[in-house]
Amino acid sequence: MKRKEITKPDISRIRDVLSKSLDLQTLNLTEVSALLDVSDKELWLEIFDTARLVKEKVYGRRIVLFAPLYLSNECVNDCLYCGFRKGNKDAVRKTLTVNEAVEEAAMLANRGYKRLLLVASEHAKITGIDYLERIVNAIYDNTGVRILHVNSAPMSVEDFRRLKASGVGVYQCFQETYHMPSYRHLHRTGMKADYAWRLGVMDRAVEAGFEDVGMGVLLGLYDWRWDVAALIAHSRRLINKYGFGPHTLSVPRLQPAQGSAADHLKYRVTDEDLRKIVAIYRLALPYVGVVVSTREPAGLRDELLSLGASQISAGSKTSPWGYMKEGDTEQFEIGDTRSLEEVMEKIASLGLMPSLCTACYREGRSGERFKHLAEETAIKNFCHENAILSLKEYVEDCATGELKERLMKMLNEEIAKCSNGLIDKFKLIEDGKRDVHI
Ligand code: SAM
Ligand code: SF4
Repeated sequence: MKRKEITKPDISRIRDVLSKSLDLQTLNLTEVSALLDVSDKELWLEIFDTARLVKEKVYGRRIVLFAPLYLSNECVNDCLYCGFRKGNKDAVRKTLTVNEAVEEAAMLANRGYKRLLLVASEHAKITGIDYLERIVNAIYDNTGVRILHVNSAPMSVEDFRRLKASGVGVYQCFQETYHMPSYRHLHRTGMKADYAWRLGVMDRAVEAGFEDVGMGVLLGLYDWRWDVAALIAHSRRLINKYGFGPHTLSVPRLQPAQGSAADHLKYRVTDEDLRKIVAIYRLALPYVGVVVSTREPAGLRDELLSLGASQISAGSKTSPWGYMKEGDTEQFEIGDTRSLEEVMEKIASLGLMPSLCTACYREGRSGERFKHLAEETAIKNFCHENAILSLKEYVEDCATGELKERLMKMLNEEIAKCSNGLIDKFKLIEDGKRDVHI
């Protein structure tokens, strides 16, 4: 596809697109293409600035934090880029028992995490729905974790129904690349070789009752502009069909992995490209959560928080049992090794608000309802108050040292601005009540 680059004379057209995003309207593909074609550096600064404003308009200052919990690296697939692939003969394989998963989840909950993303490789006999269901139930029953999201292999509608019924919040799955020849080259065997089975995964999840689904492409497998446009097209199709699209869009970027057989450099995505991608997702679908993982280095992640990102993982390990014992086969190399405390400290220092909130999933603010609340700029009121309440709880239970002081200062400033209702809720938390939210 030959692209026409946008230069100065087309600025007014781009500004029209930006003002549409600022009105929190979803962009169409022509508008997304126009953004993708911009080459002018100054115009990009304007685009970045608008992405920040759109994020603030929808979600306010809050940045949601979570951690992944890797359940298994035993995989029947052979995705050439992944450390867990079947063909990686050097991999040390492990699947957590239910007790081990509970132990890791409890340890993370004690550190302050309330939201975990369960991540599993594909193995029908080992990590199928029976296993996932047992793990989810056990973690909810035995730990302080309040919401579990799942990133696992695509399932049938029937299995998705069971996953949803177990209380999972978001079901997440990445198409990796929409470009069929590249997909076929990278996924040659196993269930994942079936492009159509993966493409239809969100329809099956929605049919089974998931209103919150997380989508993404693995950036670096094919021309990122093409894949970003395709992901937005897929998202728009879901919106047209169901009234809501993805709850989150993630920006995983291809990382070196032990045993990888993929060419990491052929479709290299630079840091500047990643900034553009985060901004474009934010502008194209203003209501979505844009998620940045610890694949990326600390400095870049901090920057992305001001370009449209709204959720980040922190203190992550990418091997099963990784929080308990380091050194086993990771899925890929981690770029940001900071702890949850260090990331919270940084977020606060940027004038943003770290949030451990999990309220929406449990209060039925999902799917179309969530999208409307976000587009009417109402969701940020929930987000703001719930972020404050989650921080108050964190300060009471987990925070220490300088971070505790900084967060207490932040909370005092919020109290000074707010209604008596919030003061009453603080009192409840001080008296030992937990999970206070609106
Ligand atoms: N096994 C399931 C699947 O493939 O959909 C779900 C879990 S998989 C561990 C989660 C995601 O990690 C994959 O969808 C892929 O996008 C990403 N991933 C795999 N290898 C990676 C690498 N080398 N660098 C960055 N991300 C990678
Ligand atoms: Fe298995 Fe998922 Fe890795 Fe592919 S990306 S090898 S399916 S864990």
